[in-house]
Amino acid sequence: MSDSKEFTLKFWGTRGSIPCPGPSTVKYGGNTTCFEFTCGGKRIIIDAGTGIRLLGKKIMLEEGNLLDADLFFTHTHMDHIQGLPFFAPLYNPNSNVRMNAGHLVEDNYDLQGIIGTMLMKDPVFPVPSALIEKACEFNDYDCGKVFELDGGSVIKTAPLNHPNGACGYRIEFAGKVVAICTDTEHFEGRIDDNVVELAKDADVMVYDAAYTDDEYPNFKGWGHSTWQEAIKVAEAANVSQTFLFHHDPSHDDDRMDEIAKAAAEVRSSVRPAVEGEVIKL
Ligand SMILES: [Zn+2]
Ligand SMILES: [Zn+2]
Repeated sequence: MSDSKEFTLKFWGTRGSIPCPGPSTVKYGGNTTCFEFTCGGKRIIIDAGTGIRLLGKKIMLEEGNLLDADLFFTHTHMDHIQGLPFFAPLYNPNSNVRMNAGHLVEDNYDLQGIIGTMLMKDPVFPVPSALIEKACEFNDYDCGKVFELDGGSVIKTAPLNHPNGACGYRIEFAGKVVAICTDTEHFEGRIDDNVVELAKDADVMVYDAAYTDDEYPNFKGWGHSTWQEAIKVAEAANVSQTFLFHHDPSHDDDRMDEIAKAAAEVRSSVRPAVEGEVIKL
């Protein structure tokens, strides 16, 4: 991370709802959501699904266990937090990880409480959250806030349409834009203005495409969208490249290949996110 203008995105986990490792998901990945951004010399992480364990392992191997990073949560459903206790750099009390969640304030929850009383607590998990808290700063913010981080990146946030709430992110750095729009459900008959605003003229948009339009009626109200809706947003927001994301656990690699082909036939700049892939902006 030496180039001060380097802007990259790595998919450490692309799957939604529950990890699904195995021979039928090796191509697109079985780990749940985690994104790593490098913005110059700074590291920004979004979500702590099971993919974050692999990110932690890489940091330990290549950089040692001391981590300085900003970690934003889209929300705190299990598939987006379950990797956190296995993110090894958090166990170094000298690490400094600034954790931000924007969907909890309205319902009188807080991020530290969710982690300490629901995730890392007997008898659900034997390691208490106290063991990572020295490395963590917890920040609950009102979704809609704009963050200006050290190093020059700007993070804009907006509410998504998801049970219990979720925040979308727009990361701007060195003249480039990435929009993270997961987990979110489209509105029938109109495009979500919040999503379009996050993704406006983005170089890269990551969009919740857990289902196809054919499957969607069975999952209405579950808080997820389709690849066909991703294309509508990409067109409305003038997005350069779109990654379908939050792959449904029932979609094996063959099914994902079919979705990739169908989506690319409609808009060639749309394809599924692949675990482990690095996107250079
Ligand atoms: Zn999810
Ligand atoms: Zn969710």
